Amino acid sequence: MLWGSDRPDATAFLWDFSMGCGFAALILVLMQFALTGRIRALTSPYGADIVYVFHRFVSWGAVGLILLHFGILYLWYQPALGELNPLTARWELTVARLGLLCFALMILTSELRKRIALPYRAWRILHILLAVVGTLSAFAHVLGVGKYSAMTAAWPLWLGAATVWAGFVVWSRVLRPRALMRDPWRVVANDRERGGVHTLTLRPEGRPLRSWKPGQFAWLTLGNAPWALRDHPFTISTAPDRGPEISFSIKPLGDDSAQMVKARPGTIAYVDGPFGTFSVDREVDAEGFVMIAGGVGITPIIANLHALQSRKDARPVILIYANSTLQDASFREELDAIAQDVRLTIVHVPEEAPDDWAGESGLIDQDLLQRHLPEATRSWPHMLCGPAPMIAAAAEGLIALRTPANAISFEVFDLV
Ligand SMILES: Cc1cc2nc3c(=O)[nH]c(=O)nc-3n(C[C@H](O)[C@H](O)[C@H](O)COP(=O)(O)OP(=O)(O)OC[C@H]3O[C@@H](n4cnc5c(N)ncnc54)[C@H](O)[C@@H]3O)c2cc1C
Repeated sequence: MLWGSDRPDATAFLWDFSMGCGFAALILVLMQFALTGRIRALTSPYGADIVYVFHRFVSWGAVGLILLHFGILYLWYQPALGELNPLTARWELTVARLGLLCFALMILTSELRKRIALPYRAWRILHILLAVVGTLSAFAHVLGVGKYSAMTAAWPLWLGAATVWAGFVVWSRVLRPRALMRDPWRVVANDRERGGVHTLTLRPEGRPLRSWKPGQFAWLTLGNAPWALRDHPFTISTAPDRGPEISFSIKPLGDDSAQMVKARPGTIAYVDGPFGTFSVDREVDAEGFVMIAGGVGITPIIANLHALQSRKDARPVILIYANSTLQDASFREELDAIAQDVRLTIVHVPEEAPDDWAGESGLIDQDLLQRHLPEATRSWPHMLCGPAPMIAAAAEGLIALRTPANAISFEVFDLV
């Protein structure tokens, strides 16, 4: 199709290559809406965290291709770019520049969000706005330039791409929130745990959550409508066979979670899920499990342990559980109770230990792992969840102990 159109003769390959880069970038941009659209069929084979990492790399790829598209034209076909001044430039070229600005801003604000202290919610609203304006600008550019879009044979392609994209936007921002509104939940209990964690129990007022695996998570909205962009991901800390009531154990780590832990019984809630792959159910052939948790990273682990408990699963589990202090170890008593029914060995690792503490203390490292993980456990699934530095240190220690990389999986709480 690119070949069939008018193009300058002398450096035709570069011209076509530049156009190809532009179209490839547009395809990648459209793909981003699918990647972040919480489509279960897409996230379930890999896990939502991996899909978000992929989304991040694809974004860099898309902006790289746009720059290549622009750079080639700038170096070899400058007259085609016309004027830069938006007041006098051709509109279809100005929208292209607007699109590039939007996509570049999206990447910059995402990469630097924490450094420039941009609040998560403000970033999220900005990200959605920039994505929509950037994509509309890209479409307007292609249609305005008209070289390829004017060909009748290409119309079904453009129409199809635009419809699929608009469908994604309408589905994720209008239809899905509307579907969630039909199945509200109510907070029925708010129980305080150790370490400042609150466990909220929710009762369905519509359809209960359909089959979820232990360790999966859902996007939870509390006290707001589902389109308020106030939904946050939290692990469903109840085992699936304990439904239809479900619970979330939340640590107040920011503005919204600090509000969420104050939810009173009767507060309305919306639950979008389940998502995630951090589950013992993916490891039916495992001989046993090594689980390593830090702080509130215990939530998916406890959900998995509850499942093993209620299924009377006889496989051994070694849990290494790091916290600032022993007092902060959420679910400490519940873990002891689970250990009555499951072959569970718990290794508490308080960073600061009391004087009379005979167990481990400090940070998780290779030596500590070696002391508690016999050689026979190397092939067991190793499930890690906690702060990023803890996950990195534990994964490094495990690899040094020659644990196969494919036996290590982790749940990242910091998706973006
Ligand atoms: C798969 C998964 C499971 C989680 N399970 C639990 C759990 O069981 N218990 C628990 O206490 N915490 C859990 N978290 C972390 C929890 O989502 C964040 O602590 C919470 O969203 C913070 O929101 P905030 O507005 O209070 O803080 P903010 O200061 O606004 O955000 C703190 C950080 O949390 C992350 N975050 C915030 N909102 C979102 C969002 N909507 N989507 C993705 N990331 C977000 C961002 O990286 C942000 O920098 C989980 C996170 C993920 C990704």
